[in-house]
Amino acid sequence: MDSFDIIVVGAGPAGLGFVRSLSGSGLKVAVIERLSEAVLADPPEDGRDIALTHASEDIMNKLGMWPHIPEDACGVIKDAKVVNGHSDYALHFASAGSGKDYLGRIVPNHLIRRAAYEEVKGLPDVTLICDASVEAVSTGRVVLENGKTLKASLVVAADSRFSETRRKMGVGAEMEDFGRVVIVCEMSHTQPHDGVATECFHYDQTLAILPMNGAVSSVVVTLASDKSEAAMAMPDAAFAADIQARFGNRLGKMEMASPRVAYPLVGVFAKRFVAPRFALVGDAAVGMHPVTAHGYNLGLTGAVILAESVIQAVNEGTDIGGINVLLPYERAHRKVARPLYLGTNALVKLYTDTRLPAKILRRAALRLGNVLPPVRARIVQQLTQYGA
Ligand SMILES: Cc1cc2nc3c(=O)[nH]c(=O)nc-3n(C[C@H](O)[C@H](O)[C@H](O)COP(=O)(O)OP(=O)(O)OC[C@H]3O[C@@H](n4cnc5c(N)ncnc54)[C@H](O)[C@@H]3O)c2cc1C
Repeated sequence: MDSFDIIVVGAGPAGLGFVRSLSGSGLKVAVIERLSEAVLADPPEDGRDIALTHASEDIMNKLGMWPHIPEDACGVIKDAKVVNGHSDYALHFASAGSGKDYLGRIVPNHLIRRAAYEEVKGLPDVTLICDASVEAVSTGRVVLENGKTLKASLVVAADSRFSETRRKMGVGAEMEDFGRVVIVCEMSHTQPHDGVATECFHYDQTLAILPMNGAVSSVVVTLASDKSEAAMAMPDAAFAADIQARFGNRLGKMEMASPRVAYPLVGVFAKRFVAPRFALVGDAAVGMHPVTAHGYNLGLTGAVILAESVIQAVNEGTDIGGINVLLPYERAHRKVARPLYLGTNALVKLYTDTRLPAKILRRAALRLGNVLPPVRARIVQQLTQYGA
C-alpha cells in the first residue's frame, strides 16, 4: 500500500490549484487523474473562456500560473452590460471608479488547465497518477481500478460537479437540472468590442458576448435542451448570422472562429464540503450555472482557503485530516458560495421565465440596478477586489 499525506482525485484547474497552493509545505501528495499526462500537458480546447476576477488573477500570479498564459490569448473586460430582450436599455457595470483599469480577464479554460499542470508537474513532493480512476474510497483510503490501494491523512475530491468520489464517500448534493444547454464558441467580428462584455436576456435564449483579444469575442448561448441539437447542427454561416441578428448587429458581421461545444446545465451544491479526512473542492463542492461566471473563481478561492488551513495544521503539528482543520474551509466557503449559488439560480429562473410578471420584474430589476448605486458598486467591488 502506498502512503501519502494527501490524495487529490481530479487534476482539473481546481484540484491542481489546491496542489500548487500546498507546495513548500513538505506534504507528500498524490494526484489521481482519469486523463493521460499528455492531455494534461496540452489540453484540447473545450470552448470555455473563463471570466476571471482580480482575486483569481492575483492567486494565479502567486501560484506562478499566470506567466504561463499567453497574453494575446486572453481578453480584458473593461465594462459589462446587461440587456433585457431587444431593449436598448442596459444595466451598466464600469471599471471606472473601481480603482482598477478593468473588471476582469477572460482566459480559455484549456490554457488555465495547461498553466496549472506546468506549475505542478515538477513539484518534488507530488506524484501524478494519470490514466487512473477510482474504484472505491473510504476514510483516508483510495482503491484504484487497477487494484492498487493508496492511503492518506486527507482525501480531496476535485473530480467535477458529477464527482464519483463525493458519491462514494456518501456525501449528497443538491442538483438543479436547468433543462437547458449552453453552447460556447469564439467568433470574429468587423466592429470592435471595446472591452465590453454584454449579457442579453432574450425570452428563449440568453446570449453572452465576452471580449477576447482583438476583434474576437467569446460567445455563450443558453437555450432549452430540445433546441440545442438543432443549434449545434446549423451550418457555421447560419449559426453566425443568427447570433449576429440576436446581438442586434452591434459587432457588425460575425463569423465563427472556433468550433461550437455544448454543455448541459446542471447546478450542484454539495450537502457538506468536508467529512473526517475528506474534503471537496472546485465543482465537486459547488458546480455553478455559468451565467454569472463564478465557477472557477469560487473553486480557486476555496482551494486556497483549504490549503491555508492544511498548511497551518502542518505548522502547528496537528492532524491535517482532522475535522477542526477542515471545518474553517467549509464555513468560509459556504458563506460565500451559498448566496452566489442561490442568487445565480434565481437570476436564471427570472430571466428564462416568459410569463408576464417575470418580464415586468426583470425590466424593473435592471432599472433598479442602475438607480441603486450601492447594488452596482457591490457587484463591481466583487469583480475587482473581493473575488468570488
Ligand atoms: C460553458 C462554461 C463556461 C464557464 N465559464 C466560467 C467563467 O466565465 N468563469 C468561471 O469562474 N467559471 C466558469 N465556468 C466554470 C469552470 O469551468 C469550472 O468551475 C471549473 O472548470 C471547475 O474546475 P474543477 O477542477 O473543479 O473541475 P473540472 O474542470 O471538471 O475537472 C475535473 C477533473 O477531474 C477528472 N476526473 C473526473 N472524474 C474522475 C475520476 N473518477 N477519477 C479521476 N479523475 C477524474 C477529470 O478528468 C478532470 O480533469 C464555466 C463552465 C462552463 C461549462
